Amino acid sequence: MKTHAIIPVFIPHEGCPYNCIFCNQKAITARVKSPSFRETETIIERYLTTIEANPDIKTKEIAFYGGSFTAIPMERQTAYLEIACKFKKAGRIDKIHMSTRPDYIDDRILGNLKRNGADVIELGVQSFDEEVLRRSARGHSAADVFRAAALIKSYGFELGIQLMTGLPGDTYEKCMHSVSETVKIAPSIARIYPSVVLENTAMCDMYRNGTYVPWNLEKTVSVVKDMYRTLTAAGINVIRVGLKSTDIIKNENGAVVGGYHPAFRQLVESEIAKEDLEKQLNGAESGSAEFFSNPVSFSNMIGNGASNKKYFSEKYPGLAIKFRTDASLRPSVYRAEIHR
Ligand code: SF4
Repeated sequence: MKTHAIIPVFIPHEGCPYNCIFCNQKAITARVKSPSFRETETIIERYLTTIEANPDIKTKEIAFYGGSFTAIPMERQTAYLEIACKFKKAGRIDKIHMSTRPDYIDDRILGNLKRNGADVIELGVQSFDEEVLRRSARGHSAADVFRAAALIKSYGFELGIQLMTGLPGDTYEKCMHSVSETVKIAPSIARIYPSVVLENTAMCDMYRNGTYVPWNLEKTVSVVKDMYRTLTAAGINVIRVGLKSTDIIKNENGAVVGGYHPAFRQLVESEIAKEDLEKQLNGAESGSAEFFSNPVSFSNMIGNGASNKKYFSEKYPGLAIKFRTDASLRPSVYRAEIHR
């Protein structure tokens, strides 16, 4: 049951002087303008009409997404924040949230965010590997991330870190390095985005001229699974895994290339369930077994399109396996009982 609602206010590329190779914000900005201040208020009111009618929603956030919020002129940041703050002071929302770049964080920016009621700052980091950052034209270094993260925390903001997998020059080891650096920083939230080749991006040109080969879905799931495991084990709340369908613009052949799947998070969580359960089989190949999960993670245990069910029945034909729920289990725990 959803208890937390986010009201997204999309401020496209406005203010961002960079051209990260995977980013299509500039193309979006050409078609979609930032909302005016009046439109922003209308967007928030429209979302709240639905959200306030839902008694299950306990916490609400206004989130400025899209480009790099703290790179837009300070007066515009302040004007957007004042609108959000009005709703916060009226008790209609709980938090104000924004995403930005590590090199657009300093005392002046953070002081202004603090005065205007901001709570959560997410940094688009993508990778802690210098080569990956350079080849992706990020325009900042890993050191910028550490500096920005420390400053954000020193002001008492909640910190988020966004990582990407499969960018040019990326490897499994580099992704795991990014995750261990993230754990050192200890943000409260994180997102993992697999690289997806979007139309109107430099990465799309590289893909077409053969200088970039995207990771396939199988590799992406396998790498993201280990990243997700490490982050959650460190107590970091991974609030998103994979892109939303609304983030996707298909290329001219109607195809999306790279690590996109509409149920990407489920693929990752199902893979974790499969690994955890198989480990507990301890090599048992005959007799019967029962696999248990909390009801909320039952579909992860079964797998997308019953993939885990098929996997076990094909790999362990001599083992009769029943899949059951156990409400006493934590949603991330999968338990196997073997009857020999
Ligand atoms: S910093 Fe963000 S908005 Fe700017 S080009 Fe890179 S990904 Fe796009």
